[in-house]
Amino acid sequence: MKKITQQIASFKDKLLYQESGPLTDRLKRAPGPFGLGQVLLRSKPEATTSAVCGYCSTGCGLRVHLKNGEAVSLTPATSYPVNLGMACPKGWEALTPLDAPDRGVIPLLKSKDGAREAIPWEDALKTMCSEFQAIQKKHGKSSVAFISTGQIPTEEMALLGALTKFGMGMVHGDGNTRQCMASAVVAYKESFGFDAPPYTYQDFEESDVIVLVGSNLCIAHPIMWERICRNPHEPQIVVIDPRKTETATAATHHFAIRPKSDLVFFYALANILIGEGWVDEDFVQQHTRGYLEFSNFVQDYTPELACAVSGIAVDDLKELARKIHLGKRVSFWWTMGVNQSHEGVRVAQAIINLALLTGNLGRVGTGANSITGQCNAMGSRLFSNTTNLLGGHLFENQSHRNKVAEVLGLDQTQIPETVGWSYDKIIEGVLSGDVKGLWIIATNPAHSWINRGHIKEMLGRLDFLVVQDMYHSTETAQVADLYLPAAGWGEKEGTFINSERRIGLLKKVKRAPGQALADFHIFKAVAQYWGCGDMFDEWSSPEAVFKILQRLSAGMPCDFSGIPSYQAIDEQGGIQWPCLPGELPEGPTQRRLFEDGKFYHLDSKARFVFEKPRSVEEPIDDRFSFVLLTGRGSSSQWHTQTRTSKSAILRKMSPKMAYAQIHPDDAKQMGVRSGQYLRIKSRRGSICVHAFVTASVQRGQVFMPMHYQETNKLTQASFDPYSKQPSYKFCAVDVRRAEHWEIQGDDDEG
Ligand code: SF4
Repeated sequence: MKKITQQIASFKDKLLYQESGPLTDRLKRAPGPFGLGQVLLRSKPEATTSAVCGYCSTGCGLRVHLKNGEAVSLTPATSYPVNLGMACPKGWEALTPLDAPDRGVIPLLKSKDGAREAIPWEDALKTMCSEFQAIQKKHGKSSVAFISTGQIPTEEMALLGALTKFGMGMVHGDGNTRQCMASAVVAYKESFGFDAPPYTYQDFEESDVIVLVGSNLCIAHPIMWERICRNPHEPQIVVIDPRKTETATAATHHFAIRPKSDLVFFYALANILIGEGWVDEDFVQQHTRGYLEFSNFVQDYTPELACAVSGIAVDDLKELARKIHLGKRVSFWWTMGVNQSHEGVRVAQAIINLALLTGNLGRVGTGANSITGQCNAMGSRLFSNTTNLLGGHLFENQSHRNKVAEVLGLDQTQIPETVGWSYDKIIEGVLSGDVKGLWIIATNPAHSWINRGHIKEMLGRLDFLVVQDMYHSTETAQVADLYLPAAGWGEKEGTFINSERRIGLLKKVKRAPGQALADFHIFKAVAQYWGCGDMFDEWSSPEAVFKILQRLSAGMPCDFSGIPSYQAIDEQGGIQWPCLPGELPEGPTQRRLFEDGKFYHLDSKARFVFEKPRSVEEPIDDRFSFVLLTGRGSSSQWHTQTRTSKSAILRKMSPKMAYAQIHPDDAKQMGVRSGQYLRIKSRRGSICVHAFVTASVQRGQVFMPMHYQETNKLTQASFDPYSKQPSYKFCAVDVRRAEHWEIQGDDDEG
């Protein structure tokens, strides 16, 4: 470590330099013993500037206050059309994680004895490329893969996707967005013809009936909840969730359905609406296909069946159907409680079907609206070059491949004709030995992947693992053969796309520490050392890439070729797609899709998509008699807490130790009180946590926040068959009182 410290110290004394010219030139003239230096702030020093937040998909605007050109504090932007002067605790504390002591400041290479040693960037890049190229030469191109993230700007993820698939010849790559949004993506594609969340946040304020499904908005998207609180129409707020969450507590109606009974519940709602004649027949006839088949299908899903499966009384279900019928502007919203399911796609489509049936699409205050998770999950959905070819195109479509090749000046043969493996298949590939080299960027699967107990061992099987992250301390970075230090939010520029399709600008307001580089520059450097740097000559800066992405988007539903510049995005308060040439309005806008009733299928009609419910893979039984639910714990925690744990303020706002919520009756039966210990065991392993006795969970259920590394030792690796999204929200566990804090075991009870 002494060596690293000395190198950092020497580097920090060096002058900064203005970035320009080809990367190789910059490498040559960069100061310091390691060749690569740092980049000057783009903007002139000024009192304040703006940037969108880099945590969640809400995409709040922040005012960043500068001293000598560097950020010293921030406040929520009052005029930004997303947050209207509000921010959640994470947003207020967005600068703090940048100064954490475990920031990566220099590449680290694992030596034969397992110690990590600091090495120059040139050596790191040469090592990475030679190791991956050697693996590909011996085992084929598909033996090296990547796993990316929804946390980096669109320009960076597009560059990564193009570099890996077109330049490095990788076949398989996926993003951690698979864990949160994949089911919504597939649902929209099949129902609407394109992955297109139709709403704008103003709809929260305009609905008179708001139906929230599997969404604890108060905690997970607090600013969106604030938008609901501003609704002047005294809306009915219906929460459908097994837990009495903070959102359910504040709602006007809570339907505490049994876990994974949602599909039957929604089919029964459709049954009632159809049976009562509460269908918008004009809308259905003019704008949809498959209604007749759907109405026949739901006949089997009677209110009585739904009552037996979900535990919701028949009269209550009928009353909910009546509310939806009487609502003038009904909006349906869902998030991870739906998506992270063994049948998430069909549940999402069951919600979409309700909106189609009742004509609640394309009008103010309506919509079948998936709320996204990460700050740039929407950018990843369109531009990561994983599930889609760049720009929402399809790998399998010849004319799409031709267009992408033409825009990028590539030969068509360089564009793959098939989609690569999804995240779970890549992990399986590591296990089977088909994947031998892996590049992980800005995500922490050793903590977050479902049934993560085995993932460290799996990653250990790789011939070469590269982890690129802000922190050298994450569970995943620690097992890497090579660690690359990356700049974080606020230390680079680019754009994010938020849940309502608003493209917002991220600005560089701080220097990255030591030799940490923007992911953009790391990708450019890898391209140079790989030998395909020429392919990316035009990708000279994030804004240059944005121009390329605009050309790729042209003619697609997500067309944003009408945005003149980064500056326009900044001045407009973000711009929602689509934005065609000549469409740019003056000032902030609220745009929703399908106002003309035209969907993206060739016949312009939306589809009713439905299927019989499937059983969960791991039902409870005598031995594992509790259901484990997982989710967001507090608004101050983000995912694996890689960043939020760096803030003393945020740490104080949530329990440090892992805990499980348990119903008072179950707790009484076990003789356990809040603060005492529970031993929770699944077929994957066993953990010890604090008990949190609360009636917010039902009997027979326990709830654990996803932020603690213990949680995914228990979860079961089951997946939606269409989206391949993990089903984090249901597995069978045994729960007992622990007399004292027990050492956690990894026993496999298979
Ligand atoms: Fe940032 Fe999301 Fe909080 Fe807004 S709600 S401040 S985008 S974390």
